[in-house]
Amino acid sequence: MVTPSRIALARRRRGLTLAELSGRAGVSLQSLSNYETGRTSPRRDTMGKIASALDFPPSFFEGPALDEFPSEGISWRARSKTSARALDAARAAGALGAMLYDWIDERFRLPGVDIPSLGKPDPETAAGMVRTRWDLGEAPAPNMVHLLEAHGVRVFSLDPDYAEVDAFAVWRDGVPFVFLNTLKSAERGRFDAAHELGHLVLHGSEHACSGPEAERQANDFASAFLMPRASVFGHMPSGAHVDQIIKGKRIWNVSAMALTYRMHDLGLLTDWQYRSTCAELSRLGYRSDEPEGMGQRETSQVLTKVFAALRTKHIRPPDVAAELGLTNEEMNRLLFGLTLTSLPGGSQQENSASQRNLSLVP
Ligand SMILES: [Zn+2]
Repeated sequence: MVTPSRIALARRRRGLTLAELSGRAGVSLQSLSNYETGRTSPRRDTMGKIASALDFPPSFFEGPALDEFPSEGISWRARSKTSARALDAARAAGALGAMLYDWIDERFRLPGVDIPSLGKPDPETAAGMVRTRWDLGEAPAPNMVHLLEAHGVRVFSLDPDYAEVDAFAVWRDGVPFVFLNTLKSAERGRFDAAHELGHLVLHGSEHACSGPEAERQANDFASAFLMPRASVFGHMPSGAHVDQIIKGKRIWNVSAMALTYRMHDLGLLTDWQYRSTCAELSRLGYRSDEPEGMGQRETSQVLTKVFAALRTKHIRPPDVAAELGLTNEEMNRLLFGLTLTSLPGGSQQENSASQRNLSLVP
């Protein structure tokens, strides 16, 4: 039996219109439309052609219907010109990520959700409240992926082929999910993670969390969360020079641009100093990249532990992918840059900045 909504999901995941899939699979547009709405069901050989055109194993289409993330509940951190097609593809990947997490959830005891819902404080106050609740005081934030995971956030990687989407966060049945673009510098990855945390805290599951105002709030939250006011005042002199900023950014593992913005926000740089510092940092290559940065991106503790535990039971990632009806490639994209089992070429070591004990009991 074919599940109609899975055909539509897989098609959106590949960024295809009905007409494009029709051309690729050699199946008429009308038939495809009927299959997706469930009016008629494809014959086995037809389904084989569609599965092959979509590059999904045929078994994927026989699973139960998947809960998709509602498009209006998602806070996109993406370029304003990002196509609806790219957003749909990322949202469909999200549904696959949630499916993988459900699989993990049945086999491991994952950290409980501890994301305070704070009503409507200003972002600076909210960041301080979360820091207090999580016992961070004024210290620099540890590994942000570990921190989110330790408080119940399910973190996945965004498909590297859709680099115009930076990150997104969404609640599903009381469980928060965050998807990160793992191609960006380590510092920008930390900022994205803190920005999405801001959405989860400030905009919650029932509030609309998109639009320029929500984006500004999430940015202010991230800035305050990563660079607490007292800590910045304690380390950075008023009117700091570019070299002091480049040195100072390492205290908080943020980008030089983010620290410059924060210092201006806190009144440590005048408008003129802020503009000239930004221009100088741009000239030095700090707008698109992060020279003299952390280098290594922060990886997932939960996913790394889960796959290590599965390995001891002789269950490898391809086995999990097969059970879920996903290709290896598809699953690698969800884990890309977050685990040791990611795509080849990205050999990385587990960053153990934060060593909270997660109880993962198979
Ligand atoms: Zn956002």
